[in-house]
Amino acid sequence: MATEPSSGGFHRDVRADFPILAADLDGRPPVYLDNAATTQKPRQVLDAMHAYYCQDNSNVGRSVHTLSMRATDRYEQARERVARFVNASGGNEIVFTKGTTESVNLVAEGFGRELLRAGDEVLISGLEHHSNLLPWRRLCERTGAVLKVAAVDEHGELSAAAFSAQLSDRTRIVAVAHVSNVQGTVTPVGEVIEAAHARGAVVVVDGAQAVAHRAVDVQALDADFYCFSAHKMYGPLGTGVLYGKAGHLARMEALLMGGGMVRRASYDGPLTLAPPPHLMESGTPNIAGAVGLAAAMDYLDDLGVERVAAHDAELTARAAAGLRAQDGVTVFGAQRPEGGIVSFAVDGIHPYDVGNHLNNAGIATRTGVHCAMPFVDSLGVVGTVRASFGVYNTAEEADLLVETVKTAEKGFWSLEHPNDRSLAG
Ligand code: PMP
Repeated sequence: MATEPSSGGFHRDVRADFPILAADLDGRPPVYLDNAATTQKPRQVLDAMHAYYCQDNSNVGRSVHTLSMRATDRYEQARERVARFVNASGGNEIVFTKGTTESVNLVAEGFGRELLRAGDEVLISGLEHHSNLLPWRRLCERTGAVLKVAAVDEHGELSAAAFSAQLSDRTRIVAVAHVSNVQGTVTPVGEVIEAAHARGAVVVVDGAQAVAHRAVDVQALDADFYCFSAHKMYGPLGTGVLYGKAGHLARMEALLMGGGMVRRASYDGPLTLAPPPHLMESGTPNIAGAVGLAAAMDYLDDLGVERVAAHDAELTARAAAGLRAQDGVTVFGAQRPEGGIVSFAVDGIHPYDVGNHLNNAGIATRTGVHCAMPFVDSLGVVGTVRASFGVYNTAEEADLLVETVKTAEKGFWSLEHPNDRSLAG
Protein backbone atom coordinates (compact mmCIF):
# COMPACT_ATOMS: atom_id res chain seq x y z
CA MET A 1 0.00 0.00 0.00
CA ALA A 2 1.20 3.49 -0.77
CA THR A 3 1.75 5.38 2.45
CA GLU A 4 3.04 8.60 0.90
CA PRO A 5 1.10 11.69 1.81
CA SER A 6 -1.86 12.20 -0.45
CA SER A 7 -3.44 15.60 -1.00
CA GLY A 8 -6.92 14.12 -1.52
CA GLY A 9 -7.67 17.11 -3.71
CA PHE A 10 -6.97 19.56 -0.91
CA HIS A 11 -4.78 22.61 -1.37
CA ARG A 12 -2.44 21.43 1.38
CA ASP A 13 -0.76 18.20 2.45
CA VAL A 14 -3.42 17.19 4.93
CA ARG A 15 -1.69 14.02 6.12
CA ALA A 16 1.34 16.01 7.20
CA ASP A 17 -0.93 18.05 9.50
CA PHE A 18 -1.77 15.03 11.67
CA PRO A 19 1.19 13.94 13.83
CA ILE A 20 -0.44 10.64 14.82
CA LEU A 21 -0.40 9.45 11.21
CA ALA A 22 3.37 9.15 11.59
CA ALA A 23 3.02 6.94 14.67
CA ASP A 24 4.58 3.49 14.55
CA LEU A 25 2.01 0.74 15.15
CA ASP A 26 4.01 -2.50 15.00
CA GLY A 27 6.17 -1.13 12.23
CA ARG A 28 3.54 0.67 10.20
CA PRO A 29 1.53 3.85 10.41
CA PRO A 30 -2.11 3.61 11.44
CA VAL A 31 -4.79 3.21 8.81
CA TYR A 32 -7.37 5.08 10.79
CA LEU A 33 -10.92 4.36 9.69
CA ASP A 34 -12.63 5.03 13.02
CA ASN A 35 -13.33 8.70 12.48
CA ALA A 36 -16.98 8.44 13.48
CA ALA A 37 -15.83 7.46 16.97
CA THR A 38 -13.33 10.28 17.17
CA THR A 39 -11.16 11.98 14.59
CA GLN A 40 -7.45 12.59 14.92
CA LYS A 41 -6.30 16.14 15.64
CA PRO A 42 -4.23 18.33 13.32
CA ARG A 43 -1.25 20.21 14.70
CA GLN A 44 -3.17 23.46 14.08
CA VAL A 45 -5.58 22.41 16.83
CA LEU A 46 -2.84 21.06 19.10
CA ASP A 47 -0.78 24.22 18.58
CA ALA A 48 -3.72 26.48 19.40
CA MET A 49 -4.33 24.63 22.66
CA HIS A 50 -0.63 24.59 23.49
CA ALA A 51 -0.39 28.33 22.83
CA TYR A 52 -3.42 28.94 25.02
CA TYR A 53 -1.84 27.10 27.94
CA CYS A 54 1.57 28.69 27.34
CA GLN A 55 0.41 32.27 26.85
CA ASP A 56 -3.13 32.92 28.06
CA ASN A 57 -4.12 30.34 30.64
CA SER A 58 -6.18 31.50 33.57
CA ASN A 59 -9.83 31.24 34.62
CA VAL A 60 -12.59 33.03 32.75
CA GLY A 61 -14.68 35.94 33.96
CA ARG A 62 -13.22 35.76 37.43
CA SER A 63 -10.72 38.57 37.68
CA VAL A 64 -9.41 41.86 36.40
CA HIS A 65 -5.88 40.60 35.83
CA THR A 66 -4.50 40.40 32.34
CA LEU A 67 -4.37 36.63 31.97
CA SER A 68 -7.92 36.21 33.20
CA MET A 69 -9.10 38.81 30.72
CA ARG A 70 -7.16 37.10 27.96
CA ALA A 71 -8.61 33.69 28.83
CA THR A 72 -12.09 35.22 28.87
CA ASP A 73 -11.50 36.82 25.48
CA ARG A 74 -10.23 33.59 23.97
CA TYR A 75 -13.20 31.66 25.34
CA GLU A 76 -15.78 34.16 24.14
CA GLN A 77 -14.05 34.51 20.76
CA ALA A 78 -14.32 30.74 20.42
CA ARG A 79 -18.03 30.99 21.12
CA GLU A 80 -18.41 33.54 18.32
CA ARG A 81 -16.36 31.31 16.02
CA VAL A 82 -18.70 28.40 16.67
CA ALA A 83 -21.71 30.64 16.03
CA ARG A 84 -20.27 31.63 12.64
CA PHE A 85 -19.44 28.01 11.74
CA VAL A 86 -23.04 26.82 12.16
CA ASN A 87 -24.55 30.20 11.24
CA ALA A 88 -26.23 30.85 14.59
CA SER A 89 -27.39 34.41 14.94
CA GLY A 90 -24.82 35.03 17.67
CA GLY A 91 -22.62 33.59 20.40
CA ASN A 92 -25.50 33.99 22.87
CA GLU A 93 -27.03 30.92 21.19
CA ILE A 94 -23.97 28.73 21.78
CA VAL A 95 -23.61 26.80 25.03
CA PHE A 96 -20.37 24.91 25.56
CA THR A 97 -20.84 21.42 26.95
CA LYS A 98 -18.59 18.39 27.16
CA GLY A 99 -20.13 16.76 24.11
CA THR A 100 -23.27 15.77 22.26
CA THR A 101 -24.39 13.54 25.11
CA GLU A 102 -24.36 16.40 27.57
CA SER A 103 -26.01 18.72 25.05
CA VAL A 104 -28.96 16.37 24.49
CA ASN A 105 -29.34 15.73 28.23
CA LEU A 106 -29.29 19.46 28.85
CA VAL A 107 -32.20 19.99 26.47
CA ALA A 108 -34.12 17.00 27.83
CA GLU A 109 -33.80 17.95 31.49
CA GLY A 110 -33.43 21.73 31.23
CA PHE A 111 -36.11 22.31 28.59
CA GLY A 112 -38.21 19.16 28.18
CA ARG A 113 -38.87 18.54 31.86
CA GLU A 114 -40.81 21.76 32.27
CA LEU A 115 -42.53 21.46 28.89
CA LEU A 116 -43.91 17.93 28.97
CA ARG A 117 -47.19 16.85 30.51
CA ALA A 118 -48.53 13.31 30.88
CA GLY A 119 -49.80 12.13 27.52
CA ASP A 120 -47.60 14.45 25.50
CA GLU A 121 -45.38 12.80 22.92
CA VAL A 122 -41.69 12.81 22.14
CA LEU A 123 -40.88 11.53 18.67
CA ILE A 124 -37.49 10.10 17.76
CA SER A 125 -36.36 8.03 14.79
CA GLY A 126 -35.50 4.34 14.64
CA LEU A 127 -31.81 4.98 14.03
CA GLU A 128 -30.81 7.00 17.07
CA HIS A 129 -27.62 6.73 19.08
CA HIS A 130 -28.22 5.90 22.75
CA SER A 131 -27.33 9.53 23.51
CA ASN A 132 -30.36 10.72 21.56
CA LEU A 133 -32.61 7.96 22.83
CA LEU A 134 -32.01 7.34 26.53
CA PRO A 135 -32.39 10.97 27.70
CA TRP A 136 -35.81 11.07 26.00
CA ARG A 137 -36.81 7.67 27.28
CA ARG A 138 -36.06 8.69 30.85
CA LEU A 139 -37.77 12.05 30.43
CA CYS A 140 -40.91 10.32 29.17
CA GLU A 141 -40.83 7.87 32.08
CA ARG A 142 -40.55 10.75 34.52
CA THR A 143 -43.20 12.99 33.00
CA GLY A 144 -45.72 10.45 31.78
CA ALA A 145 -45.10 11.47 28.18
CA VAL A 146 -45.06 8.84 25.45
CA LEU A 147 -41.92 8.00 23.48
CA LYS A 148 -42.75 7.34 19.84
CA VAL A 149 -40.29 5.96 17.30
CA ALA A 150 -40.55 6.64 13.57
CA ALA A 151 -39.44 3.47 11.82
CA VAL A 152 -36.77 3.45 9.15
CA ASP A 153 -37.33 1.53 5.91
CA GLU A 154 -35.70 -1.76 4.88
CA HIS A 155 -32.57 0.13 3.77
CA GLY A 156 -32.33 1.87 7.11
CA GLU A 157 -33.40 5.14 5.52
CA LEU A 158 -35.71 7.54 7.27
CA SER A 159 -38.34 9.07 5.03
CA ALA A 160 -39.82 12.45 5.87
CA ALA A 161 -43.27 11.03 5.12
CA ALA A 162 -42.83 8.12 7.56
CA PHE A 163 -41.62 10.57 10.15
CA SER A 164 -44.44 13.04 9.61
CA ALA A 165 -47.00 10.26 9.87
CA GLN A 166 -45.96 9.81 13.51
CA LEU A 167 -46.48 13.46 14.38
CA SER A 168 -49.63 14.37 16.28
CA ASP A 169 -51.08 17.34 18.09
CA ARG A 170 -49.53 15.91 21.27
CA THR A 171 -46.01 15.87 19.84
CA ARG A 172 -44.03 18.41 21.82
CA ILE A 173 -40.46 17.38 21.04
CA VAL A 174 -38.88 15.73 18.02
CA ALA A 175 -35.31 14.45 18.37
CA VAL A 176 -33.50 13.16 15.32
CA ALA A 177 -29.97 12.48 14.13
CA HIS A 178 -28.77 14.49 11.14
CA VAL A 179 -26.55 11.55 10.13
CA SER A 180 -26.76 8.00 11.50
CA ASN A 181 -23.61 6.90 13.30
CA VAL A 182 -24.28 3.26 12.37
CA GLN A 183 -24.48 3.49 8.61
CA GLY A 184 -24.10 7.13 7.64
CA THR A 185 -27.70 7.61 6.58
CA VAL A 186 -28.41 11.29 6.04
CA THR A 187 -31.86 12.03 7.39
CA PRO A 188 -34.21 14.54 5.72
CA VAL A 189 -33.84 16.79 8.70
CA GLY A 190 -35.04 19.98 6.97
CA GLU A 191 -38.35 18.36 6.03
CA VAL A 192 -38.69 16.81 9.47
CA ILE A 193 -38.23 20.22 11.07
CA GLU A 194 -40.79 21.83 8.78
CA ALA A 195 -43.37 19.15 9.46
CA ALA A 196 -42.71 19.22 13.21
CA HIS A 197 -43.01 22.99 13.35
CA ALA A 198 -46.31 22.83 11.53
CA ARG A 199 -47.56 20.76 14.51
CA GLY A 200 -46.00 23.09 17.05
CA ALA A 201 -43.21 20.70 18.12
CA VAL A 202 -39.66 21.71 18.98
CA VAL A 203 -36.88 19.89 17.12
CA VAL A 204 -33.59 18.76 18.62
CA VAL A 205 -31.03 17.65 16.04
CA ASP A 206 -28.17 15.32 16.97
CA GLY A 207 -25.49 16.61 14.61
CA ALA A 208 -22.60 14.57 16.05
CA GLN A 209 -21.96 12.77 12.75
CA ALA A 210 -22.86 15.64 10.46
CA VAL A 211 -20.59 18.54 11.33
CA ALA A 212 -17.36 16.99 10.02
CA HIS A 213 -18.86 16.08 6.64
CA ARG A 214 -21.19 18.87 5.58
CA ALA A 215 -21.88 22.56 6.02
CA VAL A 216 -24.44 23.04 8.77
CA ASP A 217 -26.60 26.14 8.80
CA VAL A 218 -28.86 26.07 11.83
CA GLN A 219 -30.88 29.06 10.65
CA ALA A 220 -31.48 27.63 7.17
CA LEU A 221 -32.53 24.35 8.82
CA ASP A 222 -34.61 26.27 11.35
CA ALA A 223 -33.40 23.80 14.02
CA ASP A 224 -34.53 24.66 17.53
CA PHE A 225 -31.54 22.90 19.08
CA TYR A 226 -28.48 21.42 17.39
CA CYS A 227 -25.97 19.27 19.33
CA PHE A 228 -22.46 18.23 18.39
CA SER A 229 -19.02 17.22 19.70
CA ALA A 230 -15.67 18.84 18.94
CA HIS A 231 -13.80 15.54 18.99
CA LYS A 232 -15.60 14.19 15.93
CA MET A 233 -14.63 17.21 13.83
CA TYR A 234 -10.84 17.30 14.38
CA GLY A 235 -11.21 19.22 17.66
CA PRO A 236 -10.33 18.14 21.19
CA LEU A 237 -12.01 15.62 23.46
CA GLY A 238 -14.23 16.92 26.24
CA THR A 239 -15.83 19.84 24.40
CA GLY A 240 -19.21 20.00 22.76
CA VAL A 241 -21.85 22.45 21.73
CA LEU A 242 -25.50 23.00 22.30
CA TYR A 243 -26.89 25.49 19.82
CA GLY A 244 -30.32 26.72 20.88
CA LYS A 245 -32.53 29.48 19.53
CA ALA A 246 -32.21 32.39 21.94
CA GLY A 247 -35.91 32.22 22.82
CA HIS A 248 -35.63 28.55 23.79
CA LEU A 249 -32.46 29.01 25.80
CA ALA A 250 -34.17 31.81 27.70
CA ARG A 251 -36.81 29.32 28.87
CA MET A 252 -34.29 26.73 30.02
CA GLU A 253 -33.18 25.79 33.46
CA ALA A 254 -29.57 25.18 34.36
CA LEU A 255 -28.75 21.62 35.40
CA LEU A 256 -25.69 22.58 37.43
CA MET A 257 -25.78 25.29 40.04
CA GLY A 258 -22.53 26.96 41.03
CA GLY A 259 -20.01 29.60 40.21
CA GLY A 260 -19.96 31.54 36.97
CA MET A 261 -23.74 31.71 36.55
CA VAL A 262 -24.55 34.15 39.31
CA ARG A 263 -25.46 37.83 39.27
CA ARG A 264 -26.62 37.98 42.88
CA ALA A 265 -26.56 35.22 45.49
CA SER A 266 -27.44 35.00 49.17
CA TYR A 267 -28.48 32.33 51.69
CA ASP A 268 -32.18 32.92 51.49
CA GLY A 269 -32.67 36.29 49.82
CA PRO A 270 -32.77 37.14 46.15
CA LEU A 271 -30.97 34.91 43.72
CA THR A 272 -30.29 36.44 40.34
CA LEU A 273 -28.72 34.23 37.73
CA ALA A 274 -26.81 35.14 34.58
CA PRO A 275 -28.65 34.76 31.27
CA PRO A 276 -27.81 31.96 28.83
CA PRO A 277 -25.37 30.77 27.67
CA HIS A 278 -23.46 31.38 30.92
CA LEU A 279 -26.44 30.16 32.90
CA MET A 280 -25.78 26.64 31.59
CA GLU A 281 -22.02 26.77 32.05
CA SER A 282 -21.51 26.99 35.79
CA GLY A 283 -18.13 25.85 37.05
CA THR A 284 -14.84 26.43 35.32
CA PRO A 285 -15.34 25.64 31.64
CA ASN A 286 -13.02 23.78 29.32
CA ILE A 287 -11.42 26.93 27.94
CA ALA A 288 -8.66 25.19 26.03
CA GLY A 289 -11.26 22.86 24.55
CA ALA A 290 -13.23 25.80 23.18
CA VAL A 291 -10.02 27.29 21.78
CA GLY A 292 -9.20 23.95 20.14
CA LEU A 293 -12.69 23.65 18.68
CA ALA A 294 -12.40 27.13 17.15
CA ALA A 295 -9.07 26.09 15.62
CA ALA A 296 -10.66 22.92 14.21
CA MET A 297 -13.35 25.04 12.57
CA ASP A 298 -10.68 27.30 11.09
CA TYR A 299 -8.94 24.16 9.83
CA LEU A 300 -12.08 22.78 8.17
CA ASP A 301 -12.92 26.14 6.65
CA ASP A 302 -9.39 26.40 5.31
CA LEU A 303 -9.74 23.00 3.61
CA GLY A 304 -13.21 23.97 2.40
CA VAL A 305 -16.17 22.18 3.93
CA GLU A 306 -17.58 21.35 0.48
CA ARG A 307 -14.26 19.85 -0.58
CA VAL A 308 -14.11 17.85 2.66
CA ALA A 309 -17.63 16.57 2.03
CA ALA A 310 -16.74 15.48 -1.52
CA HIS A 311 -13.51 13.79 -0.39
CA ASP A 312 -15.14 11.81 2.42
CA ALA A 313 -18.09 10.79 0.24
CA GLU A 314 -15.78 9.62 -2.56
CA LEU A 315 -13.84 7.30 -0.26
CA THR A 316 -16.99 6.03 1.41
CA ALA A 317 -18.55 5.20 -1.95
CA ARG A 318 -15.32 3.48 -3.06
CA ALA A 319 -15.17 1.29 0.04
CA ALA A 320 -18.90 0.53 -0.09
CA ALA A 321 -18.70 -0.51 -3.75
CA GLY A 322 -15.69 -2.77 -3.11
CA LEU A 323 -17.36 -4.42 -0.14
CA ARG A 324 -20.71 -4.83 -1.88
CA ALA A 325 -18.98 -6.65 -4.72
CA GLN A 326 -17.77 -9.36 -2.31
CA ASP A 327 -19.73 -12.55 -1.82
CA GLY A 328 -20.90 -12.93 1.74
CA VAL A 329 -20.55 -9.26 2.61
CA THR A 330 -23.63 -7.21 3.43
CA VAL A 331 -23.32 -3.45 3.36
CA PHE A 332 -25.99 -1.75 5.42
CA GLY A 333 -27.61 1.39 4.16
CA ALA A 334 -24.99 3.64 2.61
CA GLN A 335 -27.34 4.30 -0.29
CA ARG A 336 -25.78 7.73 -0.09
CA PRO A 337 -22.18 8.02 1.02
CA GLU A 338 -22.35 11.60 2.33
CA GLY A 339 -22.26 10.48 5.93
CA GLY A 340 -18.68 9.23 5.57
CA ILE A 341 -19.59 5.83 7.02
CA VAL A 342 -19.84 2.30 5.63
CA SER A 343 -21.20 -0.41 7.89
CA PHE A 344 -21.01 -4.05 6.90
CA ALA A 345 -21.18 -7.65 8.07
CA VAL A 346 -19.38 -10.73 6.79
CA ASP A 347 -21.47 -13.91 6.67
CA GLY A 348 -20.61 -16.35 9.43
CA ILE A 349 -17.94 -14.16 11.00
CA HIS A 350 -18.53 -12.11 14.12
CA PRO A 351 -17.82 -8.40 13.63
CA TYR A 352 -15.24 -8.51 16.45
CA ASP A 353 -13.31 -11.17 14.53
CA VAL A 354 -13.43 -9.07 11.38
CA GLY A 355 -12.30 -6.08 13.42
CA ASN A 356 -9.43 -8.07 14.92
CA HIS A 357 -8.37 -9.23 11.48
CA LEU A 358 -8.42 -5.66 10.20
CA ASN A 359 -6.50 -4.50 13.24
CA ASN A 360 -3.84 -7.13 12.54
CA ALA A 361 -3.41 -5.43 9.18
CA GLY A 362 -3.12 -2.05 10.92
CA ILE A 363 -6.65 -0.90 10.08
CA ALA A 364 -8.75 0.69 12.81
CA THR A 365 -12.53 0.24 12.50
CA ARG A 366 -15.32 0.12 15.02
CA THR A 367 -17.16 -3.12 15.64
CA GLY A 368 -20.37 -3.93 17.48
CA VAL A 369 -23.61 -2.04 17.97
CA HIS A 370 -22.18 1.47 17.93
CA CYS A 371 -24.21 2.70 20.93
CA ALA A 372 -27.35 2.20 18.86
CA MET A 373 -28.55 -1.21 19.99
CA PRO A 374 -32.22 -0.93 19.03
CA PHE A 375 -31.28 0.13 15.51
CA VAL A 376 -28.66 -2.59 15.06
CA ASP A 377 -31.17 -5.11 16.43
CA SER A 378 -33.56 -3.99 13.70
CA LEU A 379 -30.90 -4.86 11.11
CA GLY A 380 -31.07 -8.46 12.36
CA VAL A 381 -27.36 -8.81 13.09
CA VAL A 382 -25.28 -9.13 16.23
CA GLY A 383 -23.34 -6.06 15.18
CA THR A 384 -21.56 -4.51 12.23
CA VAL A 385 -18.08 -3.45 11.28
CA ARG A 386 -18.02 0.29 10.68
CA ALA A 387 -15.39 2.04 8.59
CA SER A 388 -15.60 5.81 8.72
CA PHE A 389 -13.59 8.26 6.67
CA GLY A 390 -11.96 11.59 7.31
CA VAL A 391 -9.89 14.22 5.55
CA TYR A 392 -6.58 12.33 5.82
CA ASN A 393 -7.83 9.02 4.47
CA THR A 394 -6.82 7.89 1.02
CA ALA A 395 -8.17 5.74 -1.80
CA GLU A 396 -5.36 3.29 -1.03
CA GLU A 397 -6.67 2.93 2.51
CA ALA A 398 -10.22 2.34 1.27
CA ASP A 399 -8.86 -0.35 -1.08
CA LEU A 400 -6.76 -1.93 1.65
CA LEU A 401 -9.90 -2.23 3.77
CA VAL A 402 -11.73 -3.97 0.94
CA GLU A 403 -8.84 -6.34 0.20
CA THR A 404 -8.27 -7.22 3.85
CA VAL A 405 -11.92 -8.06 4.48
CA LYS A 406 -11.57 -10.74 1.77
CA THR A 407 -9.21 -12.74 3.98
CA ALA A 408 -11.20 -12.50 7.24
CA GLU A 409 -11.91 -15.82 8.91
CA LYS A 410 -14.10 -17.10 11.68
CA GLY A 411 -12.28 -16.72 14.97
CA PHE A 412 -12.91 -16.50 18.67
CA TRP A 413 -16.33 -14.88 18.75
CA SER A 414 -19.40 -16.98 18.26
CA LEU A 415 -22.42 -15.80 16.37
CA GLU A 416 -24.45 -18.37 18.31
CA HIS A 417 -24.40 -16.00 21.28
CA PRO A 418 -25.80 -12.85 19.79
CA ASN A 419 -26.37 -11.31 23.20
CA ASP A 420 -22.70 -11.23 24.01
CA ARG A 421 -22.11 -7.59 23.36
CA SER A 422 -19.41 -6.74 25.79
CA LEU A 423 -18.46 -3.62 23.85
CA ALA A 424 -22.05 -2.50 23.33
CA GLY A 425 -21.70 1.11 24.44
N1 PMP B 1 -24.90 10.95 18.64
C1 PMP B 1 -24.25 10.37 17.63
C2 PMP B 1 -24.95 10.20 16.31
C3 PMP B 1 -22.94 9.93 17.81
O1 PMP B 1 -22.29 9.33 16.81
C4 PMP B 1 -22.31 10.12 19.06
C5 PMP B 1 -20.89 9.64 19.31
N2 PMP B 1 -20.68 8.30 18.98
C6 PMP B 1 -23.03 10.75 20.07
C7 PMP B 1 -24.31 11.16 19.82
C8 PMP B 1 -22.41 11.01 21.41
O2 PMP B 1 -21.35 11.89 21.30
P1 PMP B 1 -20.36 12.11 22.51
O3 PMP B 1 -19.90 10.75 22.93
O4 PMP B 1 -19.26 12.94 21.96
O5 PMP B 1 -21.13 12.80 23.60
